[in-house]
Amino acid sequence: MSDHVNDIGPMLASPRCGAKTRCGGACRSPAVHGKKRCRMHGGAPGSGAPKANRNARKHGLFTRDAIAERRRIQALLGEARKLLEEMKCASFADSSQTKGKLTNQSTLTAPTQARDSAS
Ligand SMILES: [Zn+2]
Repeated sequence: MSDHVNDIGPMLASPRCGAKTRCGGACRSPAVHGKKRCRMHGGAPGSGAPKANRNARKHGLFTRDAIAERRRIQALLGEARKLLEEMKCASFADSSQTKGKLTNQSTLTAPTQARDSAS
């Protein structure tokens, strides 16, 4: 009996559209394959918003790739700044070592002595 042509059980078991109709009820039409609505309620091929919301994209400043690129650049700049600071500290340490036992006080007073001698 289930081999009969009018066996519509699987068809009726298919997912329904469910959109709100003008009468207030839910649409009972079958949903289009791969979509949640019927062909009359937004399931037609070519309907709906494009994927990844391309309608809202104006300049691409906030795309995933642009954000990742900016992060990479900022990380590179941070590393460069750290390296420069380390080089500064290393050169300062080298200069203080070559001067022997000169302390920070002597290096701070050096410019004032130069000013005094100029005037
Ligand atoms: Zn529908």
